[in-house]
Amino acid sequence: MKQSLEEIISLAGQCRCGHCHDDIPIERMVVGRDAFEQLAAYLRQKQYRKAALVADERTLAAAGQSLCDKLENESIRYTVCLVQPDENGDVIADERSIVQVLLETPNDADVMIAVGAGTIHDITRFSSYKMKIPFISVPTAPSVDGFTSMGAPLIVLGVKKTIQAQAPVAVFTHTDVLCQAPKAMVAAGFGDMVAKYTSLADWQFAHWMADEPHCPLVHQLTEQALKACVDHIEDIAAGGERGIRVLMDALLQSGIAMLLIGQSYSASGAEHHLSHYWEMEFLRQNKRQVLHGAKVGMSTPMVIERYQQVLLPLLDELEKRPEPMDEAVWRRFKENAAVIRAQLESLQSPERVRAMMEKVGGAVAPEQLGIDPPLVERSWREAHHLRPNRFTMLHFLNEFVL
Ligand SMILES: [Zn+2]
Ligand SMILES: [Zn+2]
Repeated sequence: MKQSLEEIISLAGQCRCGHCHDDIPIERMVVGRDAFEQLAAYLRQKQYRKAALVADERTLAAAGQSLCDKLENESIRYTVCLVQPDENGDVIADERSIVQVLLETPNDADVMIAVGAGTIHDITRFSSYKMKIPFISVPTAPSVDGFTSMGAPLIVLGVKKTIQAQAPVAVFTHTDVLCQAPKAMVAAGFGDMVAKYTSLADWQFAHWMADEPHCPLVHQLTEQALKACVDHIEDIAAGGERGIRVLMDALLQSGIAMLLIGQSYSASGAEHHLSHYWEMEFLRQNKRQVLHGAKVGMSTPMVIERYQQVLLPLLDELEKRPEPMDEAVWRRFKENAAVIRAQLESLQSPERVRAMMEKVGGAVAPEQLGIDPPLVERSWREAHHLRPNRFTMLHFLNEFVL
């Protein structure tokens, strides 16, 4: 069962984990057929008079007309900035797109509206932050859980970095638009959710091993969202309104959970670090990008497999400290051996996760996404350096065991 925004905020108020959960900037979250009417009413109520829409050609075609009609009905003035794709035909969140959006957004705009998937959101998130105006999220595909995040992963001078910007003030997503999204984007959204098997396990591990901040509510909300997707996999694979709604609600819930703790701990572990590593290599080679969720949905069973194959034998031989294992780290590992074992054994099996990804039409092997074996090998050894302060199991294996 998913929780409404109000329920989550109320649960957060009762959470005793010690972390501040007061900074949720999101005021409205609407998933439904009346999303655009509600968006227009919200703009009116907030007295936003001039909206700057940011979209690309595809997302404007998917949602633009019906959204613009509603804005006109409410006599809200708006401009549309169509972000141009690069030479590969991809819209990229890089300096070129950002300058285009900044140039085409009128100086007197009082709100920006991101109409699109993850990339359009990241461009708008950053541009609106720099223009010191709020932005509203209008997801056009259930493809990722980052719509509501604060951080904008941007590619600057060819290198991807996440820059802290701002979360949207509201989210309005029309289920008819979502249902028309390409199947690959639905599979990607599902992939970003199955990634929670390993991201949650890595987060828990980091908490046990390195006292990384932890919040049981954030953990539970994320787990609940994952479970909803797994329970409704048939509906999601069928692509009907019911399944798409479950998936979108789950992605939003995972996003809100991240906002509660102000970090991506719950939603991004080694499976995401591998994916980011591959993405950077693709950028270097100027290869066409692969959907984020396609990569993390594929890497999740790989990570489960590796963790079970390498860590379980280590737990079986706790008396033999491997060289050159740091003594303090080894002590921590031994102290937490029972919970770590229970967690590894309770992880979903890699075969089952692959079967789920196949069911929704996602990739299950690196080659299907153009990721070759030498790159996979290198990423196993180096991907954890992308987030050096996250004590994932991959970090532990690379820095202390192998
Ligand atoms: Zn993700
Ligand atoms: Zn908490």
